[in-house]
Amino acid sequence: MSRIGVFGGTFNPPHLGHLRLAQAAKAQCALDTVLIMPANIPPHKQAHDLVAGDDRLALCRLTFADDGFVVSELELHRTGKSYTVDTMQALRDAYPGDELFLIIGSDMLLSFDRWYQWQEILSLCTLIVLSRDDAISPETLRMYANETLGLTEGEGYHVLLLEPMELSSTMIRETIRLGGDVSGYLTAPANAYLKEKGLYR
Ligand code: ATP
Repeated sequence: MSRIGVFGGTFNPPHLGHLRLAQAAKAQCALDTVLIMPANIPPHKQAHDLVAGDDRLALCRLTFADDGFVVSELELHRTGKSYTVDTMQALRDAYPGDELFLIIGSDMLLSFDRWYQWQEILSLCTLIVLSRDDAISPETLRMYANETLGLTEGEGYHVLLLEPMELSSTMIRETIRLGGDVSGYLTAPANAYLKEKGLYR
């Protein structure tokens, strides 16, 4: 039986905060594989600074290059909005004997009870959560998971032990637009790709 982590996001672009979360989840929860899942954003939802799915896919491959990371096109190739419940159900069918984990940052956890069919998602996987900034402590995450989602730590969810890295794709896009240097926020190959293609300028 394998332990498979699923890490979804817009990844517009993927950054070192994402990489650090995926690496910590893999190490601390003894995952065999982490599937990186860039979301398909339907045209009517696209922000003006969202780059094409193929570029986000390439950037993910240049960011999540460790052994055991696999960038998946499952959501990108699905038409319409990417619902996590559909992804987890598809993975449950594809890997019937394996254990599934869903990796999310604290902002995502704290709105989890508004996700489409969130109870169904929880029946399919275990959550792995990381605090994104100092304002949201691991204790806050535990309280929300226990009381709002009705989960038990160690069974329904795990909280990662790692200092928050306050970084977002929004901040990176804004820095590029203002002509700033983002090399400290991305892997070197991802940064080179962004520059070469002139993305987010
Ligand atoms: P944007 O600024 O465009 O909203 P983002 O940086 O929040 O983007 P997403 O692609 O929306 O990135 O996030 C994918 C997942 O990664 C989410 O679960 C989010 O909580 C998590 N995440 C993003 N940045 C960090 C970070 N610095 N530390 C921990 N988790 C993060």
